[in-house]
Amino acid sequence: MDRYAVIGNPVAHSLSPRIHAWFAQQTGEVLEYQRLLAPLDGFVEVAGRFFAEGGRGANVTVPFKAEAAAWVEDLDPLARAAGAVNTILYDGQRRYGFNTDGLGLVRDLEINQHESLAGVRILMLGAGGAANGVAGPLLAAGPAELVVANRTVGRAEQLVARFPEARLGGKIRAAALSELSERFDIVINATSAGLDGAVPAVDSHVVAGAFCYDMVYGHSTAFCSWAAAREARAVIDGVGMLVEQAAAAFLVWRGIRPETRPLLELLRSERQVAAGEAAANGDPEGLES
Ligand code: NAP
Repeated sequence: MDRYAVIGNPVAHSLSPRIHAWFAQQTGEVLEYQRLLAPLDGFVEVAGRFFAEGGRGANVTVPFKAEAAAWVEDLDPLARAAGAVNTILYDGQRRYGFNTDGLGLVRDLEINQHESLAGVRILMLGAGGAANGVAGPLLAAGPAELVVANRTVGRAEQLVARFPEARLGGKIRAAALSELSERFDIVINATSAGLDGAVPAVDSHVVAGAFCYDMVYGHSTAFCSWAAAREARAVIDGVGMLVEQAAAAFLVWRGIRPETRPLLELLRSERQVAAGEAAANGDPEGLES
């Protein structure tokens, strides 16, 4: 049976095995998909062993996307522009790297959430692998401005430097988290702070009135709860992005694009149940929009 995996650290929370099993069933493809936890200094060893033992493809998650981009032998244009790989295809001889994160995010925002990106001001928090992966597709959607703010400002500056034309045209700029005070139409949390239940240290004004999107997923992420309590126009977690980037990866591996809407409806209805149970148990953070 063709084998696939998601490689990360941590990886136990990943919904990818369930999503790909669902896609396989929907499309009639026969495959196996597992989670692989790699030590922080062991991505190449774990991924190399998986492919040597017959793996056909892998998703790469936090914190290995940049390392994966350096390890593969071919990069598609989006992965090259991002310097980050979230999908690897192995044909038995060469490793091909792709980045489907940006396609997944833009599709979730524009198609699933009906949130147009053209002409709006977007703040992206974070400048790691995920942020690098989505910046190009976000800019391609034509926002008025994309501000990239990161705890380590130098990484935000490096990200912005990848887009010299957009920077010259005033379409993208880097910022420190602490210097943000203006309002935005859309705020995307692309940090991994939420994996530890933390929220990036930004002024609450930046989310007031904004459509807030957390790439972390869960029925009540720390950022969604924080933004909802600070007058965000809407808050949504990253499960839609996860499903959409997975569908794009499935297309790379199997040549078939699965339908995402039925799975998203199923996951969202499960979330509502989980949020209701959390609220019934007296958890004030348990509600998700
Ligand atoms: P990464 O490469 O390790 O980057 C982590 C980013 O988070 C960096 O910008 C880092 O800032 C920042 N950060 C971490 N802790 C922070 C804190 N306490 N306060 C402020 N900033 C903090 O990780 P990644 O691959 O970009 O992934 C980021 C997140 O997106 C992860 O949670 C991942 O699960 C999620 N993600 C979701 C999807 C999806 O489909 N929904 C897809 C991709 C990623 P410094 O540079 O200062 O360290």
